[in-house]
Amino acid sequence: MADKTNIGWTNRTLNFWKGCTKKNEECRFCYAATLAKRGGWDFSKVTRCGRDIWRKPDRWNKEAAEAGRVDLVFTCSISDFFHPAADAWRDEAWDVIRRNKNLAWQILTKALVAKDGGLSFVLERLPKDWGDGWDHVWIGSSAGQRDTFATTAHHLRNIPAATRFLSMEPLLELIPVEDFEAAGDLSWLDQAIIGGESGTHLATKNEQWQHRRMDLVWARTAAAQFLKRHVAVMFKQRSDVKNEQPADCPWLDGLKQWPLNLFDHQQHAKEVGLIEGPNPRGYPLRIFS
Ligand code: SF4
Repeated sequence: MADKTNIGWTNRTLNFWKGCTKKNEECRFCYAATLAKRGGWDFSKVTRCGRDIWRKPDRWNKEAAEAGRVDLVFTCSISDFFHPAADAWRDEAWDVIRRNKNLAWQILTKALVAKDGGLSFVLERLPKDWGDGWDHVWIGSSAGQRDTFATTAHHLRNIPAATRFLSMEPLLELIPVEDFEAAGDLSWLDQAIIGGESGTHLATKNEQWQHRRMDLVWARTAAAQFLKRHVAVMFKQRSDVKNEQPADCPWLDGLKQWPLNLFDHQQHAKEVGLIEGPNPRGYPLRIFS
């Protein structure tokens, strides 16, 4: 479990449990499943991680508080925080999250949309003192296809949360402008992450590791639509060029790539007047194109 991570939209990853169940086409080449295969553990079985992992947030929180900062923590990166197989442990995880307020907990879940398309049991699995959402907890969900975008946008806005984010990674098809228009003003959404597939699979023809292709037009279209609606955009990665830094991406037609590092860019955005005034929660998100 990572004290540091290469994932550009966070500072750390924390998994209270590991293992998951694939839910849709976006999960097909799940990087966590690949990690499990390489590590020799059963991805289909959700198992609780060890005590050393559960103790990390208290240490991270202390470090962040002493340094006067807030660190972002992606929760859970190799499972789903709202996976039903983790019901017995979730209250304990909420306790850890509740007390560590110098960590901004980025909970990314695909459990928001139930099989029947309705709002799932996530609401019932929020803690009793959740209210309108804890200031230091983000709730996010994934939508890389037209149908998941429509349903996820609808449900995410109805989850009480201080900060909401949407991950379009992997982005698997063009989300046309009319779908954004149908989704409304998106004023409830704080940040969108756009990226090509990071999980890999063996192509049957040439036996090389490959990603499913993301056309850059799809990324440009989504980024433009989010920025138009004042949603902060993070472009994470292409699907075809590894390790390319977003700041060096002239092919994205001059869109401001924000952020490579959330806090450096928050400061920069403030200096050039891109942030919509101080955020009472202390988290930098709104940016105007
Ligand atoms: S929800 Fe996330 S962790 Fe679970 S199978 Fe899908 S991509 Fe993998």
